[in-house]
Amino acid sequence: MSAKSDANFATQCIHGGLDPDPLTGAVMTPIYQTSTYAQSAPGEHKGYEYARTQNPTRDALQRNLAALEKGKFGVCFSSGLAAMDNVIRLLEPGDEVLASDDLYGGSYRLLTAVFGRFGIKSRFIDMRDPAAVKEQLSPATKMLWIETPTNPMLNIVDIAALTSLAREHKLLSVVDNTFASPYLQQPLELGADLVVHSATKYLGGHSDVVMGAVITRDETLAQKLYFLQNAAGAVPGPQDCFLVLRGIKTLHLRVQRACENARHIVAVLQKNDLVANVYYPGLEDHPRHDVAKRQMRDFGAMISFDLKEDTLEAATQVMKNTHYFTLAESLGGVESLIGHPATMTHASIPREQRLSVGLTDSLIRLSVGVEDAEDLVKDLEQALAAAVGVLD
Ligand SMILES: *Cc1c(COP(=O)(O)O)cnc(C)c1O
Repeated sequence: MSAKSDANFATQCIHGGLDPDPLTGAVMTPIYQTSTYAQSAPGEHKGYEYARTQNPTRDALQRNLAALEKGKFGVCFSSGLAAMDNVIRLLEPGDEVLASDDLYGGSYRLLTAVFGRFGIKSRFIDMRDPAAVKEQLSPATKMLWIETPTNPMLNIVDIAALTSLAREHKLLSVVDNTFASPYLQQPLELGADLVVHSATKYLGGHSDVVMGAVITRDETLAQKLYFLQNAAGAVPGPQDCFLVLRGIKTLHLRVQRACENARHIVAVLQKNDLVANVYYPGLEDHPRHDVAKRQMRDFGAMISFDLKEDTLEAATQVMKNTHYFTLAESLGGVESLIGHPATMTHASIPREQRLSVGLTDSLIRLSVGVEDAEDLVKDLEQALAAAVGVLD
């Protein structure tokens, strides 16, 4: 049965916004695989006319997502970038977006190469210091686009400080909550107007679906987004909505275990003689550890580290020799992944620019999954040992 609004997170994952199917009592949300709905007379129907506009499986997911983020309205799109695309369409030509300077690469591309052509400008700034963000505001600034933790340097941005700055200056504040998931961080509670997700990652959680979502408490914004969802049409299919609903039922268990595994791995990496730096917001000497502690329930399952032998060759040896960590893009699934930002996700960024933010040639990013920590640790240790040959 649908969870009460004061129910805790795990209960929301399983029951938030969800009721047995009214037609049959089916406990799990059915996949309404239909493009259209019968009308008894022209314009007389049961609230469903055409599946771009409404679909019961999608409706259930949208209610569930709203509950998870402590919002009122969820709006799903066919990918994380489609969700972002529709959020940026809330702006007008001439408006400006201020965004984090270590933004997800696809978000950077959408803002610059697509919206730049339609007269929406973007500037990319270091958002770690809220006072410095304030100095960057211009009369054209209409939106703050916040990502935290960031990829791949795991920087932390103070959400409450930036959303209060946004409110003061009548800007829309948007948080891309993909890296944290609502289990770890709930930006609407910290004052954000909109939360965006690539549901492809932790929400789906099994690396088998591409989807995006926006969640808000503001009815006016929600109505504009529902209008765009239908008018621009980047909707997810019902089968994918079912998969994400199913994934969310274990979101709290998966992310909790992944965080525990990450803690073990961080401890081992820190002790390893071949490792130079470990980037993880749970470390007490992380420069924004206090902010992470305040705004997150735990510190996430994304870890980056680099090698004392700071070469592509050394990093490649490590990545070629892991057994359970699969070399692949993406994150947030049950399985552990390993990746090389300099040649994979961040290959388009000039070398000098990436070195200046600490993104070295040997930087390796881990998305820690929910396997046994002991096996993951052993796997990394033997892969690091295999790289010793090239270090000499
Ligand atoms: C993957 C990702 C996106 C884009 O989502 P897609 O579902 O791949 O379109 C946006 N932001 C972040 C932080 C991501 O990791």
